[in-house]
Amino acid sequence: MPLTATPIAPYNTVAMARDFYDVLGVSRSASDKEVRQAFRRLARKYHPDVNPGDAQAEERFKEINRAYEVLSDKDKRKKYDRYGERWEQAEAFDQARRAGGAGGAFTQTFDLGDLFGPAYRQAGAGRGGAFEGIFGAFTGRRGPMRGQNVEYATDVTLEEAFQATTRLLELQSEEACATCGGSGEIAGAVCHVCQGAGQTLKMKRLEVKIPAGVQDGSRVRIAGEGHPGFGGGPRGDLYVVVRVRAHPRFERKGADLVTEAGVALEDAVLGGEVEVQTLSGKHVALKVPPLTQNGRVFRLSGLGMPRLDEKRKNKARGDLLVRVNVVLPQSLSDRERELFERLREERRKQKVGA
Ligand SMILES: [Zn+2]
Repeated sequence: MPLTATPIAPYNTVAMARDFYDVLGVSRSASDKEVRQAFRRLARKYHPDVNPGDAQAEERFKEINRAYEVLSDKDKRKKYDRYGERWEQAEAFDQARRAGGAGGAFTQTFDLGDLFGPAYRQAGAGRGGAFEGIFGAFTGRRGPMRGQNVEYATDVTLEEAFQATTRLLELQSEEACATCGGSGEIAGAVCHVCQGAGQTLKMKRLEVKIPAGVQDGSRVRIAGEGHPGFGGGPRGDLYVVVRVRAHPRFERKGADLVTEAGVALEDAVLGGEVEVQTLSGKHVALKVPPLTQNGRVFRLSGLGMPRLDEKRKNKARGDLLVRVNVVLPQSLSDRERELFERLREERRKQKVGA
């Protein structure tokens, strides 16, 4: 009996499809022959010609055809084994990638690794992880669904974190396909522009303001710039994760900054002034008292990082902590050597006398 091929519905019209192996009643390791035999047996049983007017049998027949269409094709079966019911989206993205640069909506070659790897997630999800990123939102989908959030990492210097800065981000953004309105199909056929994925990629530029006092690891939220929603759901959000780079001269401790300043031996002993450069580039004079010990820390109030914390507005900035580093002379003149020798003699006499 000749079999009628049933057009395959695009993925987004299929509600929670049953496992194709279950549909055909074969094991996952079934041979091609076993798959074919199971299909023939079931197709004969549920064929609409044999069951006129039986809607349930007709549904079953469609299901069997769909399962066989996938499991009888080596390549599709492999994809199905790997991605399950989401295999078609995997294929659509594969096709789109192959067609990259060939015009249409996919005007640039893109790679899932680039898209959802380094650019979106610094710690780089691999190729397998990328599919989780795209398709995670499809699982258990019922009605409108909010799109997924996207993370984008950027780094700033400590000076930029001190002053506030902006970043111009170039993102490849997923947009609902304009041709099919995001459904993936046009009049029952797979959309030729998005290959059934319902989404296309667009380059997008966003200016992101990074506030003064931003902490390492802070996330700046940009509402509505994440992945598009499904079934009329709103877009997810974009989170820009800010990494603050280490500075060679300043260490950050909360809102305070720690730096070192060299003090000449005579100034440490007799007291004096030392010049300290702040993070903003200003030079301030720090008075050190007589007999300042090596490693002593002085606090310069209000010369640290700006505070983001609203509750502490009474103190808008942290402090600058200066650790004093007593510097011994590298060379001595004859006169200086003489003075040091006299100093030693003097101190020995004191010790003996004590
Ligand atoms: Zn489309």
